[in-house]
Amino acid sequence: MQDLPITQQPIAIASPLPRKSRQARVVWRNNVVTVGGDAPVRVQSMTNTDTVDAVETAIQVRQLAQAGSEMVRITVNTPEAAAAVPYIREQLDRMGEYVPLVGDFHYNGHRLLTEYPACAEALSKYRINPGNVGKGDKKDKQFGQMIEAAARYDKAVRIGVNWGSLDQELMARLMDENSRRAQPWDTRQVMFEALISSAVDSARLAESMGLNGDNIILSCKVSGVQDLISVYRALAQRCDYALHLGLTEAGMGTKGTVASAAALSVLLQEGIGDTIRVSLTPQPGEARTQEVVVASEILQALGLRIFVPSVTACPGCGRTTSTTFQELAKQIDDYLRGQMPLWRMKYPGVEAMKVAVMGCIVNGPGESKHANIGISLPGTGEAPAAPVYIDGEKALTLRGERIAEEFQALVENYVARTYGATAAAPA
Ligand code: SF4
Repeated sequence: MQDLPITQQPIAIASPLPRKSRQARVVWRNNVVTVGGDAPVRVQSMTNTDTVDAVETAIQVRQLAQAGSEMVRITVNTPEAAAAVPYIREQLDRMGEYVPLVGDFHYNGHRLLTEYPACAEALSKYRINPGNVGKGDKKDKQFGQMIEAAARYDKAVRIGVNWGSLDQELMARLMDENSRRAQPWDTRQVMFEALISSAVDSARLAESMGLNGDNIILSCKVSGVQDLISVYRALAQRCDYALHLGLTEAGMGTKGTVASAAALSVLLQEGIGDTIRVSLTPQPGEARTQEVVVASEILQALGLRIFVPSVTACPGCGRTTSTTFQELAKQIDDYLRGQMPLWRMKYPGVEAMKVAVMGCIVNGPGESKHANIGISLPGTGEAPAAPVYIDGEKALTLRGERIAEEFQALVENYVARTYGATAAAPA
């Protein structure tokens, strides 16, 4: 095959490389979220409510879970917050929401996990930052107290290193060693080394203290795209712990979304990353759930997961003078997303559905035929008619002022007919 000229060889089909990590289990009641190994790449998120406000926090956790977050992290920063955690868990359980909660600990986690056993029990995973567990000879002792709690309650642990809170004693030692090299490394390379050593050495220490190594997840977050790629490539080579992937402090809006997608996509394509979080700063008025939407879209775009039916819409051009098709595309996208919490249970398989909303005759019919259901709206100068294609065939033509509502009703009927219980029942 390799001897054939390139034009006569079949084109290689791109797909993400397999991941090689161990598998952690993050559990609440019967909800077991596996991370790593052959588990799907998971989506997680973090609340921005005051944890002390148990009701508000439970509501936001639920919103994030309903948007598709499979684990939700909450900050546990004070005794009051630790005391609120069991109430948050209780509220969620009462709502039938069994999404695992992850506690984010810094500085005082050893005390909170020891003095608030109900908090330690209600959480399904602890995030420990080795840069913030204590200094000098207190460091290992306080780290050990948190690991002991995790082992006692059989919880997963993320050892989460962040370049903004990197262990300064370790960094100073590595800088010293570097200065003695015949050819010293770049400071950035020493920092990468410190991030990785901090994570991997802490994980090995936790295992030596009795924590099940399968239940350890590592992260080494930085805020630069190329830096993140460098660090995670090396981290994945040096250990087989499950990896939590995320670009820290990604920023707002388009910048944060694009930077996260760029960094995470390169690594996920290389088989690196078992669970992801997109650290978006919400824009004023923007829902916290946007970070879940972006994370899910990254995985769906790479073909790693399918969460919601996809809407194929053209960008529009000079052939479309009205905004009707943009509005319809948005309306259908919002509608599909809004239905998913219910549809996920009622219509298994619906997430793989493809809907096309196109602006004119040039690509409209072709793209619509490739979708499960598609509509080609009239462009400038075309007859005011919108043909609808179902399963590749032209089914009918919509006209008039109520095209949007009528198309939405057709989508709804298609979903019930194709993915409903009666569709799956034997003839
Ligand atoms: S399908 Fe038509 S309206 Fe949409 S971008 Fe292509 S030519 Fe323009």
